[in-house]
Amino acid sequence: MADTKKGRTKKARDAENRQRKRDLAEARERGDEAEPPRECQRRDCSETASFVVLERYQEETGQGVVEATADLCTAHTADERPANLVGAGGDYVFRVEPLPGTGGSDAA
Ligand SMILES: [Zn+2]
Repeated sequence: MADTKKGRTKKARDAENRQRKRDLAEARERGDEAEPPRECQRRDCSETASFVVLERYQEETGQGVVEATADLCTAHTADERPANLVGAGGDYVFRVEPLPGTGGSDAA
């Protein structure tokens, strides 16, 4: 009858594992886990985005203030520069912020 006991223990362990997996899946659905890393938005670049580049400026056509943001990898962020300075207006902003969780300079 030792076999039966062993089988029962295994069954309990399996149930535990299943429960753990379910918990994990639920946590993922609830968004408890870290978001998947965002990808650089530049064409043909599949690097993980490390920064969000924000530029806020007055639309030329008088539509008002426009905020453009882009998630970019470190290399493409370095290439970014203010692009809408002409008639930018008093609210002009050009900002680079590290994406949460990336650490910006994390070499790993
Ligand atoms: Zn890139």
